[in-house]
Amino acid sequence: MRLILIGPPGAGKGTQAKVVVEQFGIPQISTGDMLREHKAKGTALGTKAAEYMNRGALVPDEVVIGMVEERLKLDDARNGFLFDGFPRTVAQAEALDATLARLGLELDGVVLIEVADELLVERICGRRTDKATGQIYHLKYNPPPPGAELVQRADDKEEVVKERLVAYHAQTAPLVPYYEARGILRRVDGVGDLAQVTARLVAAVSPKAK
Ligand code: ADP
Ligand code: ADP
Repeated sequence: MRLILIGPPGAGKGTQAKVVVEQFGIPQISTGDMLREHKAKGTALGTKAAEYMNRGALVPDEVVIGMVEERLKLDDARNGFLFDGFPRTVAQAEALDATLARLGLELDGVVLIEVADELLVERICGRRTDKATGQIYHLKYNPPPPGAELVQRADDKEEVVKERLVAYHAQTAPLVPYYEARGILRRVDGVGDLAQVTARLVAAVSPKAK
């Protein structure tokens, strides 16, 4: 299974990715998580990426593409993967196509999780992550267990969220017609409870849905 999850910030990509990778036994490749790790470790890549992430802009394509190419070389990606938050620009999608072609691999599907902008700000502002496990919670929609040590992402503030939505519509939304033209795009309604969205997503990527 080689899958891509796209959708606006807060659509539920990370939440659903964790369930789907478990079901299919494939690794989750989240460029956002990878960039935050670089940032936390203070690597040169992380320091450069932070300049963009902190203001809600996309990190330059060449930085992200290089990072993903290295990741795809690891053994666990051989039997499949689920990209969460990559590609995010047409240039990234083209680079991925070239890499996969070189490796003789094909994508099985691209899933767009659809959620209206009005709902996204509330989802993002209530997002908290368990520091120890990386589990994603929401103060209202998916409350964390008592005692969990929670962190809030630095870019999950309302002013930055607005910029991220602008970046999504300008730079990432063009991927929808890009993959639609190839006949591999599937749309999933991201509104509803978590389990309901998971069921729609699994149905959308299961072979009989093709
Ligand atoms: P969200 O889950 O809210 O969609 P992510 O964790 O995927 O956010 O990404 C957080 C930030 O990391 C983005 O706003 C952007 O600055 C950067 N980023 C993540 N993935 C990419 C990518 N593929 N290309 C460029 N920037 C990225
Ligand atoms: P993304 O990776 O697309 O930015 P997340 O998976 O981090 O999105 O989800 C964003 C926030 O919305 C989190 O706080 C998460 O708990 C919450 N969330 C995810 N799916 C749903 C849903 N179906 N209904 C309500 N809230 C949700």
